[in-house]
Amino acid sequence: AKDLGGGEHFQYEPSLHKSAEERRQLEFSLRMALDRQEFELAYQPVVDANDETIISFEALLRWNSAEHGFVSPAKFIPLAEDTRLIVPIGSWVLEQACIEAANWPDPVKVNVNVSPEQLVEPDFVATVVRALSTSGLPANRLELEVTESIFVRDALVAGKALKEVMHLGCQVALDDFGTGYSSLGYLRQLSFSTIKVDRMFVQGAAQGSKESLAIIRAVVAMADSLDMTTTAEGVESFEEAELIRELGCTKIQGYYFGRPMVKAEARKLFDVPGRL
Ligand code: C2E
Ligand code: CA
Ligand code: CA
Ligand code: CA
Repeated sequence: AKDLGGGEHFQYEPSLHKSAEERRQLEFSLRMALDRQEFELAYQPVVDANDETIISFEALLRWNSAEHGFVSPAKFIPLAEDTRLIVPIGSWVLEQACIEAANWPDPVKVNVNVSPEQLVEPDFVATVVRALSTSGLPANRLELEVTESIFVRDALVAGKALKEVMHLGCQVALDDFGTGYSSLGYLRQLSFSTIKVDRMFVQGAAQGSKESLAIIRAVVAMADSLDMTTTAEGVESFEEAELIRELGCTKIQGYYFGRPMVKAEARKLFDVPGRL
């Protein structure tokens, strides 16, 4: 039986519906991908909603497989989680992201996605410590992103690991807020730095959905009173950016300000006067 992954419970999960043979082949390739150096990180800017300066980049994993070509994270991340391959892959992501971020001007941060399977590994905190010391990146420039699914299974173990990395000085963002088993109680359990508002609500609000508007307003008000910031995800147009600004979200991420890009391209943004 497979853990449906909490936050993604109601979403279509390709790994469950694909033919067993296709899945077996993908898994075979995924097992070799790290050794074959088929992974790369893309970096997407997160900007200040008011002055549009770059606050951080989210590291997003890309897999160019010898057998399958470019495979979408929506397809291989769930498979990597099911097989626990996400543990070594996730350690690689952490280290690479920190090494790259150490090249960026202070105080630009890097955001790294972390799966529940990684958090419950006994040496997760040691992996973070190692990534920071290898890279020389100050802990306060690393923000981990977790989803509500961490509260569904092994909540105590995952919570303990997150508190330890917070103690190191790292921050933790709550990703995809509102898409899964959302419970406001989760917000009390850990001092998240940021709530990421899912693209679903951004899109809904821009299309005039009263419900989406009300939800974003409520999340922003709640985050303000809890001393958390908010990031609106998936902002694709000027109109969406304007609306999000009016609603009071702190930060914006989306194709309108920048697509996920290779590291050299991300670095170039710092050469342009006025971008920082
Ligand atoms: P996520 O963490 O919610 O990441 C945001 C996703 O939205 C990314 O998809 C990004 O490319 C996409 N996106 C950004 N701006 C826009 C926009 O304006 N419009 C639209 N339509 N999409 C936008 P991506 O890169 O395909 O990643 C999908 C998911 O895979 C991520 O969702 C995350 O859950 C997972 N993932 C990616 N990299 C990693 C990783 O290193 N570790 C783990 N555990 N999960 C990862
Ligand atoms: Ca994320
Ligand atoms: Ca997200
Ligand atoms: Ca997601």
